[in-house]
Amino acid sequence: MVQNFKIGKYLILRRITQIGILLLFTFKSTEFILFGNLSSSVLLNSIKLSDPFAYLQIFLASFTLNFEFFLSALVIFLLYAVFLGRAFCAWVCPVNLITNFAELIRRYLKPAKLTNFKANTRYFLLFSFLLASFLFSEPSFEKISHIAIITRGIIFMQSSAIFVGILIFLADLFLQRNLVCSHLCPLGAFYSLISRYSLLKITYNLDKCTKCAKCINICPEPQVLNLVTKYSGKVLNPECIKCARCVDVCDDDAINFNLINFVKGKK
Ligand code: SF4
Ligand code: SF4
Repeated sequence: MVQNFKIGKYLILRRITQIGILLLFTFKSTEFILFGNLSSSVLLNSIKLSDPFAYLQIFLASFTLNFEFFLSALVIFLLYAVFLGRAFCAWVCPVNLITNFAELIRRYLKPAKLTNFKANTRYFLLFSFLLASFLFSEPSFEKISHIAIITRGIIFMQSSAIFVGILIFLADLFLQRNLVCSHLCPLGAFYSLISRYSLLKITYNLDKCTKCAKCINICPEPQVLNLVTKYSGKVLNPECIKCARCVDVCDDDAINFNLINFVKGKK
């Protein structure tokens, strides 16, 4: 068995959600539920949804305000900023399927780390793409987005998705653990920046913890678990992608989601 890898209920729920969203986009018969792609879609034939990072790039590129487009991006912005935090990365983005698979193989092969990108590189890339959108009057990240290529490739069966998917897989497998999602992706950085005050948080209970460190070992963003073995509380770092892999591996019920407690008014 691979060290600390566990197929828990949240992993199964995440895969159902990720694949379910892709299937809804793919089939003509489900267009009335969800139509489009992850950049721009229509829910239930009436609610327009747009990627707020794409909106920001297009706004910086054109400096024109399309109110309908703005509202469609605002819906998604509020969904993540107020409720779900950076959950897009773990529950929606199809790249996560590739990078999680690369990590699983990495745990078997244990290859050496060949690059040393810092987690903050993604913020540099985020602001670089925004600046480039402004300077070159076009949405610069959207032009090359690996997320858009993979998503469109799956929906429309394009071979470009296979090529980009293999590149992402090899980068995560041989260069550095979670290189693409935890170090380079500007969209992940964007969702981290807007997620500081989101309601959905992971909670940690020091009294139940047996200090096995399985959660830190499995977490794709281990810096967010700096409270583990030190004090009880919420994981406040917005880089947490709400994947709940820490919840799935913890045998001591020391880590949990706390949205339900929030709704009930408990601490
Ligand atoms: S929270 Fe759970 S998984 Fe993490 S160190 Fe404590 S007991 Fe282990
Ligand atoms: S703290 Fe838990 S939910 Fe957050 S990124 Fe790490 S493993 Fe995923």
